[in-house]
Amino acid sequence: MWIYLNDRFVDRKEAMVSVFDHGFLYGDGVYETLRTYGGRFFMLPQHLARLQRSARLIGLSVPVPEQDWPSLLREAVDRNGLTEAHLRITLSRGEGELGLDPALCPHPTLVVMARPIAQYPAHLFQEGVPLVLATTRRNLATALPPQIKSLNFLNNILAKREAGQAGAFDALMLNAEGLLTECTTSNFFFVSGGCLYTPAVDCGLLDGITREVVLTLAREAGIPVEEGRYPAECLAHADEAFLTNTSMELMPVRSLDGAPIGSGRPGPLTQKLRTLFRANIARFLG
Ligand code: PLP
Repeated sequence: MWIYLNDRFVDRKEAMVSVFDHGFLYGDGVYETLRTYGGRFFMLPQHLARLQRSARLIGLSVPVPEQDWPSLLREAVDRNGLTEAHLRITLSRGEGELGLDPALCPHPTLVVMARPIAQYPAHLFQEGVPLVLATTRRNLATALPPQIKSLNFLNNILAKREAGQAGAFDALMLNAEGLLTECTTSNFFFVSGGCLYTPAVDCGLLDGITREVVLTLAREAGIPVEEGRYPAECLAHADEAFLTNTSMELMPVRSLDGAPIGSGRPGPLTQKLRTLFRANIARFLG
């Protein structure tokens, strides 16, 4: 496996980062994940823009000029002989003496990894996945904005542990006001009375790129869509629910805390949006 480290491709055995790296010491850094379909990048400009935004929000400059990213990512995919790839770009504050001051780190550390995309078992899409409502609240947006795709992922990891302990696929997180936000690595949608609902970005969640594609496709298909502020109780009357992210696309949800959502099976609007998503992938390839 070839990994891009700072300024060159190296074998994974040589892809070492210092123990003084502030990404390791303090979670000081950002990352981005994206994928290919048939060797072509999905929503590439949007992923690069989100990387730039995350870096800007922590005062880090991205060491690769915008116009050089496509060829760098292309090489990461090609060198590893991939067509269906999952890429992770990690950008940390870099190596520096102990201490929180970012000025201690003169150069950021950049890592690009490209691996085969994980295939989720087909039965999950056929049956839907179980969720739990996490007791861990999503980070307060005024403390650590979820719109920074930060290396500091403990908030989500604590919720993921809750899911694991309950034998659930993932955990749905509320914000400090008790409103729905997102799952640990995905956005959340529910359907009620034929309308598609998803928590608004200002509830404190990552504005997922798959979320954006699904909202676009739903609006184009004339499906009523609402982004808003919803307490968990709304789900007691929901007919369907699903998750979105880059690798899962749309994943149906069958239950929350053991109680079925709707029929407890993937619902018709979820299926329709999954089909629409798959049929429209080519539109979003670069
Ligand atoms: N929310 C969180 C916290 C995430 O980590 C992710 C993906 O990594 C998402 C949502 C979904 O984002 P995307 O659709 O861009 O993959």
